[in-house]
Amino acid sequence: MKRITAVLMAVLMITGLTACGEADPDKARESIQVIAMDTPMVFTAYGEKSTHAVYMAEDEARRLDALLSRTDENSVIYQLNHADGLGITVGEEVCGLIEAAEAYSQATGGAFDISIAPVVSAWGFTTDRYRVPDEAELAELLTHVGSEHITTAEDAAALDPGTQIDLGGIAKGYASDRVVAIFRENNVPRGKAELGGNILVMGDKPDGTPWRVGVQDPAKPDEEAYAAILTLEDAFIVTSGSYQRYFEENGKRYHHIIDPATGHPADSGLTSVTVVADSAEGNGTMCDALSTALFVMGEERALDFWRSGTYDFELVLVTEDGRVVVTDGLKDILTEVEESGYTYEIVS
Ligand code: ADP
Ligand code: MG
Repeated sequence: MKRITAVLMAVLMITGLTACGEADPDKARESIQVIAMDTPMVFTAYGEKSTHAVYMAEDEARRLDALLSRTDENSVIYQLNHADGLGITVGEEVCGLIEAAEAYSQATGGAFDISIAPVVSAWGFTTDRYRVPDEAELAELLTHVGSEHITTAEDAAALDPGTQIDLGGIAKGYASDRVVAIFRENNVPRGKAELGGNILVMGDKPDGTPWRVGVQDPAKPDEEAYAAILTLEDAFIVTSGSYQRYFEENGKRYHHIIDPATGHPADSGLTSVTVVADSAEGNGTMCDALSTALFVMGEERALDFWRSGTYDFELVLVTEDGRVVVTDGLKDILTEVEESGYTYEIVS
């Protein structure tokens, strides 16, 4: 009895202290690290409901992982990919995501294409059993790639025989859109979510200054080394790069972003593409799709696409020849990193 009272007292004291120390609900902070979608993620939230918010974010990432995984036999995407051309019910959410992917495919002239899946698998990126497929094999697989092989209707979808889809180029962006919605529902005044190369910053930092987000130096993927630093609030910052997943064979490097026009890893002169947009829900998905697509398109086509104004975003491109190309909307919030050795160009 005495012991129970003592334990209770201690609990009350700790709770009391916590409540006392965090009288300003804005300051309550919770941060968790999880691995979902094959990716290390960090969710950090402030505010009264910060704990609830970050655990809801984790649950959501796990739910989407189970729904969208290509390798999990229970996922809707797996079932669709193995339906032998038959239509199946995938639910409105997955249908909407496939349709969004189709729209980005259309807008980027096919540089983004979720039906690239069989080609991604041929290179071994789905199973980590890497190999270099020959041209005949790639040519055959490419006949199954393209929007015309995908049909959707409300909550159902069908793929032509031989066609498969891979939402890997968009899924983490969609997850980050769901996180921003969850944070808003929980009145999170400020926070940050990192889903691998997909970053969301909400509000400012507790000290009132903007968040600082580094653009990884693609030449030093395993170090804390940046090609540039962005200082910003309420934004998505999404990077696709050839340094993120690759294998080497006979001294040649093969990475995981495939050019649907050739079936080979995109060889566009870029080492990374970072897409920045405001934190409106939906922009996480947009940034993810575009970072993959613009990596395939290369510097010139990527900048033309940016200038076309089709979507509202800014860019940081890192090139193989040592340049960091920045669109002018970021010029006041980008800090150069002198020791990186890059030269910087602002374009308009
Ligand atoms: P990451 O998943 O490493 O963050 P991306 O968002 O750039 O990087 O997506 C790359 C993934 O998208 C690949 O692993 C593959 O599953 C898929 N993918 C590869 N090439 C394309 C493409 N041209 N269009 C759409 N998805 C692609
Ligand atoms: Mg992407």
